Amino acid sequence: MTCVGPENPDQARLLRLLRDDGPRSRVELGDAVGLSRTRLVAEVGRLVAQGLVETAGPAASRGGRRSSLLRVAARVRFAGIAVGPAQVDVALTDGELNVLARRREPVDVRLGPEPTLARALDLLGKLRAELGVGPLTGVGVALPAPVAFREGAPVSPPALPGWHGYGVRDALAAELGCPVLVDNDANVLALGEQQTGTGRAFDDFLYLKLGTAIGCGLVLGGTLHRGATSGAGAIGHLRLADDGPRCACGENGCLEAYCSDDALVREALAAVGAGRSAALAARSAGTGTLTVADVGKAAVAGDAAAQALIRDAARRLGRVLVGLVNFVNPGIVIIGGAASGVGPTMLAEIRSVVYRRSPPLATGSLPIVLSDLDDSAAMVGAARLISDNVFAAP
Ligand SMILES: [Zn+2]
Repeated sequence: MTCVGPENPDQARLLRLLRDDGPRSRVELGDAVGLSRTRLVAEVGRLVAQGLVETAGPAASRGGRRSSLLRVAARVRFAGIAVGPAQVDVALTDGELNVLARRREPVDVRLGPEPTLARALDLLGKLRAELGVGPLTGVGVALPAPVAFREGAPVSPPALPGWHGYGVRDALAAELGCPVLVDNDANVLALGEQQTGTGRAFDDFLYLKLGTAIGCGLVLGGTLHRGATSGAGAIGHLRLADDGPRCACGENGCLEAYCSDDALVREALAAVGAGRSAALAARSAGTGTLTVADVGKAAVAGDAAAQALIRDAARRLGRVLVGLVNFVNPGIVIIGGAASGVGPTMLAEIRSVVYRRSPPLATGSLPIVLSDLDDSAAMVGAARLISDNVFAAP
């Protein structure tokens, strides 16, 4: 499609306002962006002419002449793609980033980027056909990997062997003929929180992503902070001890080697081996294996060994968070990705460590909460990623 977008900062602000707050009358838009009536009419006129904004029906009357509501045009359609350790999720959204339809399929990401992205494109094609969606306005992509943002490519990703340096952004942009941006999943989930989650009310927040890999998305002054080489928030491989457990990155004693889902399962199996947990032994009977969900269920059922190993991981996470919240001074910490049953125990212990060990200036009124978003958060975040780019002034 031809590249359309705002022509100046006022048009960009109007588009983002309509994206985030929904349909508005001209009067409300003028009040919100502080433009004169004449200027507002001119800028809205340009956005309508470009097919980015349209009339949505009559607004509630304030007396006098009835005005009409404006909204992001129906032809504006974004897609979010979230690659996971073992699946790919694809969604189409409207211009307000509401998910219109989504698909998830298991994929073996270790086969490399080409077959995985081909699956994602296939799913996206099916969704577009079902909904009758033509050219896409833009596509955002979340990868479970460190991503060189400017290059749009993953960098030495332990979870995606064979993907190092592959130009995911350029490959998808060439296939789809629209703008594409790629980022790591912790950053994209932070954007999802900013769009529809608890983070919406905060200009400065930390999003701590747990699960197979651990990362942190950092929103400062309302903007995602990536740092000089897009390595900000890559806390999973901070080394806590030189002689700690082996990590997927090849080093020893990384935060992830203590606190990831795999680490919890490893410790749970050790507890079974040492005869410390009848509940975990029962869950692993027959297969000799456990999942992180098993650990969560045993903890919720009151198993002391399962609770202790979750608390132990949470204590280490808490100590790292103490450093982060004192350095960054966020308005809130949002924790996502914890397996069901694991989250509440982990949260209680993390809070206890952070509040006990931090000076009151940084944590006096700091809420630490679990994310309340469902598993579409990464796709909404990916759509937000690309819409921030498309709805930006040139
Ligand atoms: Zn590591």
